Amino acid sequence: MLAKKNYLRHKSFVLDEVGATLITTIFTFLAATNLVIPLFTPPTTDQTVSYESITPGRYLICSMPTPTPTLIVTIIPTFTPTPTPTLLPTEIPSSTPIPSITPTPTVSLAETCQVGANTIKKGEGLCDEKSNTVTVCEGNNQMVQKQNFCGQGQVCLSQAGNFQIKCNAACQLKLGTGARTKADLVVLAEDFNSYSDFLRNVDKEVAALNQTNLGAARLGKINLWALLDLNQTYFLGYNCPITGGSVVACWDHIKAITTAMSSCGGDTYSILNNDTHRVGSVGGIAIWGGNYLFKFALDFPTFPHELGHSMAGLVDEYSFGIAAPSGAIAGINCSEKASQSETTPCPKWATRFPSVGCYKRCGYTNFYRPTIRSIMDRGGTGAVYDFNEPSLVDGWDDILKYFQ
Ligand SMILES: [Zn+2]
Repeated sequence: MLAKKNYLRHKSFVLDEVGATLITTIFTFLAATNLVIPLFTPPTTDQTVSYESITPGRYLICSMPTPTPTLIVTIIPTFTPTPTPTLLPTEIPSSTPIPSITPTPTVSLAETCQVGANTIKKGEGLCDEKSNTVTVCEGNNQMVQKQNFCGQGQVCLSQAGNFQIKCNAACQLKLGTGARTKADLVVLAEDFNSYSDFLRNVDKEVAALNQTNLGAARLGKINLWALLDLNQTYFLGYNCPITGGSVVACWDHIKAITTAMSSCGGDTYSILNNDTHRVGSVGGIAIWGGNYLFKFALDFPTFPHELGHSMAGLVDEYSFGIAAPSGAIAGINCSEKASQSETTPCPKWATRFPSVGCYKRCGYTNFYRPTIRSIMDRGGTGAVYDFNEPSLVDGWDDILKYFQ
């Protein structure tokens, strides 16, 4: 199982082996092999596809941050549970007369705190989900802030109308059984303010996956986790320079994959941005191993499209508007060579996928795609959720065969 996991991890840049040299080597390799990591932009019309400032065909990898992996420091909760008071049997002296007046059993001030108009008990408090901080009553009107109150792997949940402190698992399973033989995809939150809002949007991502033709067998090999951590930022900036060009928006890949791995045992990740760093019509950006998605794009097939890049290594089929530079490799779902007619499979698919065709334009204008439309083609009008056969078999199946 470890070996299987390592396969994807390796392809997603093995973190524990990562050094500046390795990253440079990998990225140079990606550039050399022309592994296109494209933008997916849901355009407003069928004809309009915005590519922002990206030169098509270039890998879309952000300028890498300091190659030191960000360590997720587990803060040991400072909270010490209130010791259960030992009950000592009160000896009632037989000779003492029972007083006729019993004292009124008011909760002593030592056991309460005042929160606005509410009097709350010792041990109760408030949760700030954004920072995962509990402000807890310690009695005598002392409210003390405690970060990571719920302990490792847990987060506090804010509750309307009561002051009991609820804790929940930080990794919420949204698809799959959680079995570790599966590919673990972790959705990371950026700029969300509540777990419920974030989770509603993750549900839309799961719905989009279920709308594709990946089917039960393939999706059954994937766990999708939502990491309840609203306190992280991954965005690095706009127009980040990369070798030979720039990327419209970039993020901290090392931080993202490290967070996904250390918190939820992730093999790969997808960052969901609450539309705070939108760049025109860019719906998402992907590299092999992870992707960055804007919330508005959840109304389009963008999420599974980006996974097509980041998990299955697929390339874009929409038009880059230019011919391929010499030496460019078509990729899994495109072909350099035409066939005698567009309804005849391109030579590379003729034997294995006899029912596909060979349609001109697959990213580059002089490459050929297997079907007229697919999810790796453009968004907007006529966008479809289905992957074509070469994408399913040579892309998805080829990676998912390492998982069960
Ligand atoms: Zn794309």
